[in-house]
Amino acid sequence: MRVAIQGIAGSFHDIAARRYFGGQFPGTHLDLVPCESFESVFESVLAGEAETGMIAIENTIAGSILGNYGLLEKYDLSIIGEIYVRIRHHLVALPGQTLAEIHTIIGQPVALQQCTKFLREHPHIKVQEGQDTAGAAKEIHDRNLVGVAAIAGYAAADLYGMDILFECVEDQAHNTTRFLALSKTPNAPNAQVNKASLSLRVSHRAGALAAALNILKQHHINLTKIQSTVVVDVPFEYAIHLDVTWEAMVDFEDALAILQSRALEVRIHGVYVRGVSDLGSMAKPTYATAIEGDQDEPAAISKIEPHAIGGPWTNWGLPVSSVRPDYLLIAGPCSAESEEQVMEIAEKLAATGVPCALRAGVWKPRTRAGGFEGHGVQALKWLAEAKRRFGLPIAVEVAGAAHIEACLHHGVDIVWVGARTTGNPFSVQEIADALRGTDIPVLVKNPISPDLELWIGAVERIALAGIKKIGAIHRGFATGQKSVYRNPPEWSLPLQFRDRLPNVPLICDPSHICGKRDTLAEITQKSIDRGFDGFMLEVHPNPTVAMTDASQQLTPDAYVALVNDIVWRPTDPSEEKLSAENWTKLETMRTAIDRLDQDVVESLSSRYDVVKQIAEYKRVHGLDVLQPARWEALMNHRVSLGERLGLDREFIEHVFNLVHDESIRVQAELQK
Ligand code: PEP
Ligand code: MN
Repeated sequence: MRVAIQGIAGSFHDIAARRYFGGQFPGTHLDLVPCESFESVFESVLAGEAETGMIAIENTIAGSILGNYGLLEKYDLSIIGEIYVRIRHHLVALPGQTLAEIHTIIGQPVALQQCTKFLREHPHIKVQEGQDTAGAAKEIHDRNLVGVAAIAGYAAADLYGMDILFECVEDQAHNTTRFLALSKTPNAPNAQVNKASLSLRVSHRAGALAAALNILKQHHINLTKIQSTVVVDVPFEYAIHLDVTWEAMVDFEDALAILQSRALEVRIHGVYVRGVSDLGSMAKPTYATAIEGDQDEPAAISKIEPHAIGGPWTNWGLPVSSVRPDYLLIAGPCSAESEEQVMEIAEKLAATGVPCALRAGVWKPRTRAGGFEGHGVQALKWLAEAKRRFGLPIAVEVAGAAHIEACLHHGVDIVWVGARTTGNPFSVQEIADALRGTDIPVLVKNPISPDLELWIGAVERIALAGIKKIGAIHRGFATGQKSVYRNPPEWSLPLQFRDRLPNVPLICDPSHICGKRDTLAEITQKSIDRGFDGFMLEVHPNPTVAMTDASQQLTPDAYVALVNDIVWRPTDPSEEKLSAENWTKLETMRTAIDRLDQDVVESLSSRYDVVKQIAEYKRVHGLDVLQPARWEALMNHRVSLGERLGLDREFIEHVFNLVHDESIRVQAELQK
């Protein structure tokens, strides 16, 4: 498909086009038709030089791109879709320079508007307007402009061999641009479309515009944007551009019919599926809510067939383990701590031939502020170098769009969504949007809380963004109960996960389940017995001095020993002792037993706390420890309660005799 964009390869229009059309038509090859101006994008599509076009229309910092509203009026092209893209600008220049050596910045005017703070803080740098972000990078490259930097994204820096001097120079972290996809052929109205762009011309009569808007309100049509635009050939005549969304298509059709009969002119620029932006939480229109008492729009639930999610990890293009080629084994330190540590562990692990990929935390989520929070992009550079030197693909945890961009830039091979992030649908959606159009494998850890739906929901969000290489990691759950494990495995949950999403490879993370080295082998073995597809273990060159998770990491030697002791599943499935389905049933029951036994032990512990209070009371008041009448009444009550609940009489008597003996012992002890 040929797509006309303003600018050249590596620009944000390029990124928007690839994400949008890549998501809509997976596998279709895109040919960019670079255009010097927005107007030539329209002309190129109209002339048939490109089938589709992509234009920016508004930005969270710079506002509406007014000229483009005018072009929508002037040309007869239809909007067939929209996409929101987070814009992250970096200061890029020819390699080997420092910020102090830069005397000029070339920036596209809208990009410059998004970076005013940075420009103000560096007043010695001259600013020059350029055509587009990537074009500026290309110009610096082509003309070998030393001392000149461009404001551009990672993609442009990569494409034109630039170094990044300063990351994220934009004023606000949520800098986002909305782009429109254009075509000569409008979308036919269908059940999926839920947004339209219209323009109205109304008479210069008091209340004419308000009356038109009222029609929308009466039909439950939500107005997401209103913008007046010039009508090119008629001086001081304006068209009112409206973006509207709805829940039921029929509401829109009814409102439109009435509008068409009342306004001077109504033009439909297109009906399309609204894009997802992650700005909802930051830019809530509380004003409208306060006036109308309206509810937030209920989001339409996008559906995806569970069997359509995921597929064998062996198609991800990773090297296989020398131990067993059918298991996905990932190993590496909890955190990338220094260049030396990363190189040392990469070299040692690569030499074992065991892991398929090297893990290391680059951005570390910590419960409390002030601790070591990872080395960020710096550490990505070490990992990229380790990959180059020792040939192990690299896997990194990501928690937001900026992390995804940085990982893609630095050639990370696998990203995983951490347990703290999976629990937050805003963050997961942000990650999903940033992944659109890429084909990097993504692993989703279970959320901290034992909530299966939240885990499945996160995987669905990633799958809905078009990602095919999806896996899941079971890292245990915070159950709130005391346990020998840091995060008890609650095996029935990952097994139910596998029942619900059977094609999503599932690996275990024994390190974060156990929290301590001594139980790692047992949990790893259990995960293999339960049919997991592999495991990720934390391995550190010198675990005892690790900056994070010191007590759960293994030395490379201990890692190899653990892997060598594993009893792998039979390669012939008919030799399996228990089918996956039966494991799920058994584990569900075992988890229930574990919870109940925990309750029994906790009740006994509370019981003996009260026994001690009674002992003290009896001592102060000079009462005997043994009170036969009370004991007889108690036993009778417990036995009859037990019998009513279907328990054997002798069994209850036996248990309570033991309980009573212990009470006497504890009380006698305290009387001494
Ligand atoms: C990790 O893998 O280092 C990590 C932080 O894990 P989790 O998200 O499971 O806590
Ligand atoms: Mn860790």
